[in-house]
Amino acid sequence: MVSNLHKPFIAGNWKMNKTPGEATEFVSQLLIEIQSVEAATVLVCPPFTALAAVSNSLENTRVLLGAQNVHWEREGAFTGEISPPMLRDLFVTHVIIGHSERRAIFHEADEEIHKKVLAAINGGLMPILCVGENLNEREKGKHFSVVQTQLEAALKDVKNPVIIAYEPVWAIGTGQTATPEMAQEMHRYIRKVTTAIVEPASAKEVRILYGGSMKAANAEALLQQPDIDGGLIGGASLNVQEFASIVKIAGSIGQQG
Ligand code: PEP
Repeated sequence: MVSNLHKPFIAGNWKMNKTPGEATEFVSQLLIEIQSVEAATVLVCPPFTALAAVSNSLENTRVLLGAQNVHWEREGAFTGEISPPMLRDLFVTHVIIGHSERRAIFHEADEEIHKKVLAAINGGLMPILCVGENLNEREKGKHFSVVQTQLEAALKDVKNPVIIAYEPVWAIGTGQTATPEMAQEMHRYIRKVTTAIVEPASAKEVRILYGGSMKAANAEALLQQPDIDGGLIGGASLNVQEFASIVKIAGSIGQQG
């Protein structure tokens, strides 16, 4: 049997898509499509409004439930926000933090992202911390330092295992993917930086996902890289056949150990 840590981790970020009805329909089809896949861990991250419905659909299945954001306080006067205990109450286990869309469109700063990471961990949620450079930073050769700064800011005082998603901003929703070699090079670097921050025991459990136009056609080459532990998938996670194909590819890679 493949240990959970060695199974590729495939997460779907649905962003602001799918009503509760559409989400439950999607999940029921997905469960049928991937029922024979054992060697991949699968997570879906619906919008907040569909979490309760998807949570019910996923009861007693192996598919995990994630949220796309979280606030750092437990409760209070924070109009429009959702707290870690609220997510836990719906059996959410993972939460995406610091996605580039939240950084760019909603001006989330490293300091807020750091508070969210700590709150998620303290609230019993596994953070999926997104990091990545934009095109300008890549072209100027600043990608390693940008990612290092994001990691050090977000993971300050963090000792626990975390999931990191390397999402080069220029590859998100553009159809332009980092080559497997480029992604591997950055993933190796992220592992080195993260290992120096968290506890040694946690470092072994840190998983690093690639995100940025991953689809069935390029998943295998990316997932075969030694430091790519899975994928965070946006656009391609909205189509059940496409997402299930990626899960199946991940499952066969996981099976090979
Ligand atoms: C994302 O936004 O997390 C993402 C990876 O998007 P896409 O797969 O559409 O590039």
